[in-house]
Amino acid sequence: MPLMLYNTLTRRKEPFAPIGETVKLYTCGPTVYHYAHIGNLRTYLFEDILVRTLRYDGFSVRHVMNITDVGHLTSDADEGEDKMEKGAAREGKSVWDVARFYTDAFKDDIRRLNIGEPDIWCKATDHIPEQIAQIETLERRGLTYAIGDGVYFDTAKVDDYGKLARLDIEKLKAGARVEVASGKRNPADFALWKLSPTDGAKRQMEWDSPWGTGFPGWHIECSAMSMKYLGEHFDIHCGGIDHIPVHHTNEIAQAEGATGRKPWVNVWMHGEFLVIDKGKMAKSGDNFLTLQALVDKGYAPLVYRYLCLTAHYRQQLGFSWEAMESARSSYESLRNKIVDLKGKSGIGGERSEAKAHEDAFARAIDDDLSTPKALAALWDLLRDDAIAPAQRVALAQRFDEVLGLGIARFGEDEIPAQIAALAREREQARARKDWKRSDALRDEIRERGYLVEDRDGGGYAVRKA
Ligand code: AMP
Ligand code: ZN
Repeated sequence: MPLMLYNTLTRRKEPFAPIGETVKLYTCGPTVYHYAHIGNLRTYLFEDILVRTLRYDGFSVRHVMNITDVGHLTSDADEGEDKMEKGAAREGKSVWDVARFYTDAFKDDIRRLNIGEPDIWCKATDHIPEQIAQIETLERRGLTYAIGDGVYFDTAKVDDYGKLARLDIEKLKAGARVEVASGKRNPADFALWKLSPTDGAKRQMEWDSPWGTGFPGWHIECSAMSMKYLGEHFDIHCGGIDHIPVHHTNEIAQAEGATGRKPWVNVWMHGEFLVIDKGKMAKSGDNFLTLQALVDKGYAPLVYRYLCLTAHYRQQLGFSWEAMESARSSYESLRNKIVDLKGKSGIGGERSEAKAHEDAFARAIDDDLSTPKALAALWDLLRDDAIAPAQRVALAQRFDEVLGLGIARFGEDEIPAQIAALAREREQARARKDWKRSDALRDEIRERGYLVEDRDGGGYAVRKA
């Protein structure tokens, strides 16, 4: 069976056929003004499963991810503050320091979640000339206009504007008369280059351009950088579903506008949201949870990975502590099962029986990355006593090239569940300020040959003494 992927552009699952020998993939990266929340991380987990599946299926992949460190305004209507400048004001640091700090934090998060790094990271601020060049191309093609605060893309010049989101442009126009009055010709028009404010307030990030000193709009970085590293026509572009109506719609308008309407990306893939209390998790909202917050509650990062794999990426996933608890219990059972099998000898199992499991796993993951079915295939394999324990472990490790649950390390040089439970209990005692209990637990952990260390900024780590 070929790898089937759901394409947002056609609203169908399609057999995946790469353009050339290497699959070229672009995924929209983080805006580094704050920690990533676990909703953001769900999207990067889905993209990681995509990359791993492509490689499992024998494709070579060139994966590019951007870092947005300029130009992302708090409102999608090209108004409001720059998220980076706002982050800098909140923390009393320079924008550059904020960007560096949260980029490092992001890389640390994805490492803890076993998310592979892209082949190329690209920062928006390192690619200002490329963005200016693309805006100049659009200008030459007559697709832009300038107003007081910047240069805008004229969406009325593009017949198929909004095709990805199937936007109803007439309805948009009718619904947004106020915005049109603000100077844009059409409500869907968007900024390519914003001029620095003339009120004397100095921006920390601004550059000279043919249109004056200012900074690029958010969307232009992704079309300019993806085309630089992947070419004018490439295979797959991903992000969260919120990117469909604005960010990705505008990226398509820019890229296809710049090449004279050549098709740009073959397959568009979008991850559904992680929701909490039925609301979306947003970096600016109250229900904001980081990976570290889960760790502080005693959950290993890979338990969150397991939780995400239990839902298909195109379905909403409701976050709750009960769901985390149940993921922990499944993850622990998986660990125990693998450790148990590692300690058992035995022969048995025809090659054909193992092959049946391998096929079931491939069918699951090739069905638009169905991780719930892939997990079920993993469990079916582990419980199949007709197959020798060592063979089951070997095959589970092969499946883990896609799942990324760290199966190869289970049972080897790791913290036993009992010690982890004591450390969690100690953390809870500390949270209640019960120092006597927390000290007693620390001693008990030490007696059993492990050390628990508190980390700067919260959380703890356990290691062998
Ligand atoms: P940002 O750093 O805000 O640009 O977002 C990074 C990625 O996370 C984007 O692909 C968003 O579409 C995605 N995203 C934002 N909120 C959520 C959420 N609650 N659940 C899943 N993905 C999200
Ligand atoms: Zn993007």
